[in-house]
Amino acid sequence: MTIEVKVLDEPKITCANCEACCCRLEVMLITDTGVPEHYIAIDPWGGQVMARLDDGWCAALDRDTLMCTIYDNRPLICREFEMGADECITERKEYLNE
Ligand code: SF4
Ligand code: SF4
Repeated sequence: MTIEVKVLDEPKITCANCEACCCRLEVMLITDTGVPEHYIAIDPWGGQVMARLDDGWCAALDRDTLMCTIYDNRPLICREFEMGADECITERKEYLNE
């Protein structure tokens, strides 16, 4: 008798299946990328950060599509946050219990 072994796929890492969990992190504005002023907040040390809503998500996140509404002007830190990199995997683990 032959028993067929089926290897299940690893859960795929994509921005579409994590509810934009990295957009809950504090994002400091360290360069001027043209973020609209109404999305900029000042932290307790006087630095500029992305404004966040009461539940922690960035104010510039579209809550229906979970996409960035200021993508072309997003901060440098957001540009450098790479899907599938260590920091992405860490955030997903914490938020999704992967
Ligand atoms: S970069 Fe990673 S943590 Fe951020 S939205 Fe994409 S998959 Fe999720
Ligand atoms: S600026 Fe855009 S990419 Fe950066 S945290 Fe906010 S919604 Fe996410």
